[in-house]
Amino acid sequence: MLDNYNRRLNYLRISVTDRCNLRCSYCMPEEGIKMLSHSDILTFEEIIDVVMEAVNLGVDKVRITGGEPLVRKGILNLVEMLAAVDGIKDLSMTTNGILLSEFANDLKAKGINRINISLDTLDPEKFSTMTRGGDIEMVKKGILAAREAGIHPIKINCVIDKSKEETDALQVKDYCDANGLNIRYIHKMDLKTGHFAIVEGGDGGDCKNCNRLRLTADGKIKPCLFNNLEFDIRNMGIKEALLAAASLKPECGSFNGNNHFHNIGG
Ligand code: SF4
Repeated sequence: MLDNYNRRLNYLRISVTDRCNLRCSYCMPEEGIKMLSHSDILTFEEIIDVVMEAVNLGVDKVRITGGEPLVRKGILNLVEMLAAVDGIKDLSMTTNGILLSEFANDLKAKGINRINISLDTLDPEKFSTMTRGGDIEMVKKGILAAREAGIHPIKINCVIDKSKEETDALQVKDYCDANGLNIRYIHKMDLKTGHFAIVEGGDGGDCKNCNRLRLTADGKIKPCLFNNLEFDIRNMGIKEALLAAASLKPECGSFNGNNHFHNIGG
């Protein structure tokens, strides 16, 4: 499907949960978050229905996000169900890596082609502070497990304040070079103020060439991360929601007062 700016929308990012096992300061508010109720969260069958309709409309690339997708119960079953959908050429995942060492082999076996893992610093204390308690060694173990499982490429999402010359970013770069990993620099974003930039080493934030739609964990199709528009598949119907999102996709992002990063998966 094409939008009104002749952009081919072939990429669907799916947030499978709003839950996470970390509390990153630039994603989760200090006061905590109100979680979606179980009945709000899409079932695997509903997610597959959306993906099958999206494939009929031209989507061939799917990314699984969260929150943290690996905390969703039965996530390996969902990966297997998605990998079985005819027409998906590229199935990937974005994870914080904390549980990855337990899942890497199965993710590969079930159909994950490539993976993005968040890592903003190599300093264990800074990591623990940034994530409000995370253990960096678990992430490193997960990265190496993904590499040993043969998942390729492995991309490291490194969030930066202003520049990739920042000390933490330089150290993460060295780590990536030493381990055959691709680094992407994600400038800190602010949904409310609409502050964002093009991902260095990736294609996020490049509105002119944007090819993506998003499915939130509670069943909203969003044409743009930095926009309030969303279309409820449970109220409108799947095809209607997808087509409405495509036809009303904005030329570029502005701001998003509805969502938080933890329930839209970036
Ligand atoms: S801000 Fe919106 S249009 Fe721009 S790249 Fe992101 S999702 Fe696409």
